[in-house]
Amino acid sequence: MKHSVSEQDFQKACASIPGGVNSPVRAFANVDCSPVFYDHAQGSHVWDVDGNEYVDFICSWGPMILGHRPAAVDAAVRAQLDKGVSYGAPCEAEIEMAQEICRIVPSAEKARMVSSGTEATMSAIRLARGFTGRPKFIKFEGNYHGHSDALLVSAGSGVATFGIPGTPGVTDGAVADTIVLPYNDLEAVEKAFQAQPDSIACVIVEPIAGNMGVVAPADGFLAGLRELCTRYGALLIFDEVISGFRAALGGAQERYGVLPDLCTFGKIIGGGFPVGCFAGRADVMSALAPEGPVYQAGTLSGNPVAMQAGLAQLRELQKPGVYERLEELGARLEAGLNEAIERTSTRACVNRVGSLCTLFFTDGPVRNWDDAAACDTQMFARYFRGMLDRGYLIAPSQFEALFLSVAHTEEEIDAFTTAVVDVLGDIAR
Ligand code: PMP
Repeated sequence: MKHSVSEQDFQKACASIPGGVNSPVRAFANVDCSPVFYDHAQGSHVWDVDGNEYVDFICSWGPMILGHRPAAVDAAVRAQLDKGVSYGAPCEAEIEMAQEICRIVPSAEKARMVSSGTEATMSAIRLARGFTGRPKFIKFEGNYHGHSDALLVSAGSGVATFGIPGTPGVTDGAVADTIVLPYNDLEAVEKAFQAQPDSIACVIVEPIAGNMGVVAPADGFLAGLRELCTRYGALLIFDEVISGFRAALGGAQERYGVLPDLCTFGKIIGGGFPVGCFAGRADVMSALAPEGPVYQAGTLSGNPVAMQAGLAQLRELQKPGVYERLEELGARLEAGLNEAIERTSTRACVNRVGSLCTLFFTDGPVRNWDDAAACDTQMFARYFRGMLDRGYLIAPSQFEALFLSVAHTEEEIDAFTTAVVDVLGDIAR
């Protein structure tokens, strides 16, 4: 497969964009090649600037759960273009979006729209601190909650991929109130609460971890967090930026039957436009300005084009069979990957929750960041390049999820896992 135009684009991009990319996870630096520049996308496929066609298992890192260019979302966007693209004033689509979120998400009684997942989690933490009057919060190793200072400690995603332990520019002061604990370790959380029972405002968690590769919550982990937060008067925040409207229509909280006090969303609710949201208990959300004293704002918040795109996508997701379909495709992928591991005697294991999946190059099991960090990332890089050569786009890091959409087909999943057998076989030889 030739990538000469992408190579040229990357050289040009590096001259005027740091590292040639506008988000580090897009660089292929850790898989030892240059990034592919996309030209267009449709359904489960993308085409690059060299004319190569791929089956896309990145799906814009989650938003494209219906595949690229679903007709209903396209139509909603086009209709809004005729009515203006940004008002900076209230519009009815914002009410409809808040109502939809509150109707669908079990814990949501009120919702505030923002423009990214980073803003959603940053604002939720501020709100939890403002509401409880407490300074500290707990986060988990390998969980990623966007790039705000206080949350950028022992983070997953690009921070893990590039092995950046603590980022220059984040002061000790900014992270002094961040308590970092191992994922799936309830005992550690209990000890932290015992040590400072009146200082912890909240626990923020990816209820299904996606940013160290996919790691499911251990049995009782989420319920245990709920119980501890209630006992110690802290708020529980589920960061559902990935799992929201994916793990189930009502997200991980619906799938596992545990209700947080606050939850954060992004990705899917924007239909591919820059959108985030935080939502939760009415009494907590009412502490936000202008109703309450906790300040939070945004020029483009509730942008009408983004609201219409997101609403159209949410309507499609409520049609019968969507989540059953995603589960079926996910199960087929998991079975195919396990078969590929067995047939090629590769030291690897598969974690999957619904339409999120990761092939980890370690014997496993992978339950937390230490387990994930033990993976053979060189092996992952060879696997990634082999799959790219065969026309499959997966995230260029061991510490990310593979995303399925309803536009993927059984044939594509089977062809993908057959290609995995080829690639792993080549590596073994
Ligand atoms: N939380 C989670 C769980 C995420 O996966 C991400 C991004 N991948 C974010 C927050 C940050 O979202 P954004 O990139 O839109 O700022």
